Amino acid sequence: MKIGGFQSLTLSDYPGRVAAIVFTQGCNFRCPFCHNGSLLPLDVPADAMLEEATVLETLKSRQTFLDGVVISGGEPTIQPDLVAFIDSIKQLGLLVKLDTNGTHPDVVRDLLAGRLLDYVAMDIKAPPVKYAQLTGVDTPIERIKETVRLLIAGDTPCEFRTTFVPGLLTTEDLETIRASLPDETTYTVQPFVPGNALDASLRSQKDHSLPNVGMPVSMNGTESTDHIPHHIDWLSGE
Ligand code: SF4
Repeated sequence: MKIGGFQSLTLSDYPGRVAAIVFTQGCNFRCPFCHNGSLLPLDVPADAMLEEATVLETLKSRQTFLDGVVISGGEPTIQPDLVAFIDSIKQLGLLVKLDTNGTHPDVVRDLLAGRLLDYVAMDIKAPPVKYAQLTGVDTPIERIKETVRLLIAGDTPCEFRTTFVPGLLTTEDLETIRASLPDETTYTVQPFVPGNALDASLRSQKDHSLPNVGMPVSMNGTESTDHIPHHIDWLSGE
């Protein structure tokens, strides 16, 4: 596993649970609003990452007061050994929440089939016609739709969420995404935090208020937690 960061405690990233966060290194998207520039490259030196064994040992030492672990990124599902890593966490008796951009339905399918996930949060970046613009890459939209279908069809608790970036998304875009999901699914709109956006032209954006669209709003912001390691505790620095 390529692990770029670790947060030893969060009360807001796993609904109703006390958790740690593992930030995997590398992402297949380049969302212009991303705040995790340092977690995007896959080819970082080994000494800039955390040892998987060290992370597992740390989780083991804290298993009595943690409910679970959030696996975030970067994009966790591009890690070839993700299933084995999550299996190791489950063997510690901890719950696992996966944060994903949905580009690897095969990995999500395997994890769900193996009962290795207890909660999944999936980003839906935009309506299909805007996906490339909001992700910075030629997006495999059918794979994303397949992951949505898998999560909706399964019995693992899940939520979908969108970061609202004024100027890139509109209220109608949010309504389009919401309408594409069954009514009973949890869908949350997150505020854009411009400070460290990947696209420098967005950093000075003053208007990052959320539209009033009658959808739940996440102010703790997975865009500021699962996708922004704002309190990474590098193990050596704890
Ligand atoms: S916002 Fe998430 S999916 Fe997008 S580039 Fe950043 S880490 Fe990757």
